[in-house]
Amino acid sequence: MSSLLITGIGQLVTNDSGVGDGSPLGLLHDTAVVVEDRRVAWVGPAHRAPAADAAHDVGGRAVIPGFVDSHSHLVFAGDRSEEFAARMSGTPYSAGGIRTTVAATRAASDEQLAANLARHLGEMRRQGTTTVETKSGYGLTVLDEARSLAIARQATPETTFLGAHVVPPEYTEDPGGYVELVTGPMLQACAPHAKWVDVFCEDGAFDADQARAILAAGRAAGLQGRLHANQLGHGPGVRLACELGLVAVDHCTYLSDADVAALADSGTVATLLPGVEFSTRQPYPDARGLLDAGVGVAIASDCNPGSSYTSSMPLCIALAVREMRMTPAEALWAATRGGAAALGRADVGHLAVGAAADLVVLDAPSYVHLAYRPGVPLVHEILP
Ligand SMILES: [Zn+2]
Repeated sequence: MSSLLITGIGQLVTNDSGVGDGSPLGLLHDTAVVVEDRRVAWVGPAHRAPAADAAHDVGGRAVIPGFVDSHSHLVFAGDRSEEFAARMSGTPYSAGGIRTTVAATRAASDEQLAANLARHLGEMRRQGTTTVETKSGYGLTVLDEARSLAIARQATPETTFLGAHVVPPEYTEDPGGYVELVTGPMLQACAPHAKWVDVFCEDGAFDADQARAILAAGRAAGLQGRLHANQLGHGPGVRLACELGLVAVDHCTYLSDADVAALADSGTVATLLPGVEFSTRQPYPDARGLLDAGVGVAIASDCNPGSSYTSSMPLCIALAVREMRMTPAEALWAATRGGAAALGRADVGHLAVGAAADLVVLDAPSYVHLAYRPGVPLVHEILP
């Protein structure tokens, strides 16, 4: 096992409040890190750094933990740029546009789906994302959902069965029959390839009773639950997630005071997806209200071909700061440690000793540049 000493770190974000300035980001300056066996083995002042097998100087740059993108939909085929152009010309977004991608995904080969996934994961990594969750949900047949998850599982352990994305056209007259398929043969085929089960709980997709049934079946098959909820309007999804004690509930754009209180009481992480509001011209979630109520907040890209076709966590951070009034520190924490919490992961999203060594070196003296310089490629390199 060889060790690497990383020196010349002008600013280190550890996300460990027990070190450095005592803030949630655990900021340290003029620091060194030793990485051994892909884990953080030592963190401390540069002048006290131990010897290692190799050394690498990052020239005074800022280093952050890799982003944890806890919500994406990357197993798909086809292009929806015309729909985006129409929306930007005045047509409102609705959940039904998903069916366009379903048709293209069903028609694609495994090789095409895997290549498309790899291309998007490469984009994400170049922008500093080192942990990615991704979902099925564009197959909506037993075969197409199972192959989507098998392909995703090759790339990440954070895979989510989202057969309940939308009712496919062949079940329009029999949505109950589709829920039986999702909770029966489709779940059985998908569970071996998935960690999570998810439901799009929204008008035009699945109601609370359907969501409850699908989550219960998924949990009985060994999967952990999460939900898409309260994206397009007020609804029961957030309170259902809290009642069931889910790890995370995603979107949270339309929240009542009771929803916010339920989130604060349950400890369920609210994952905000500002790329969606940006790309659909919807109002942004009330991140300030959530943070001030003590809710755990994550930020993710929701990278998908319909409502948010960005793979950029730095863009999402900039939107969270500019449009949702999060501080730069809150936004970075939400995009790293918050994302890890939303995936139930203690090993990523921070750089304390023992954590996964996912170090992103920024071409900047401070993490603040992620929000301060929107649209600028700031990832210098990813170590080790
Ligand atoms: Zn989504």
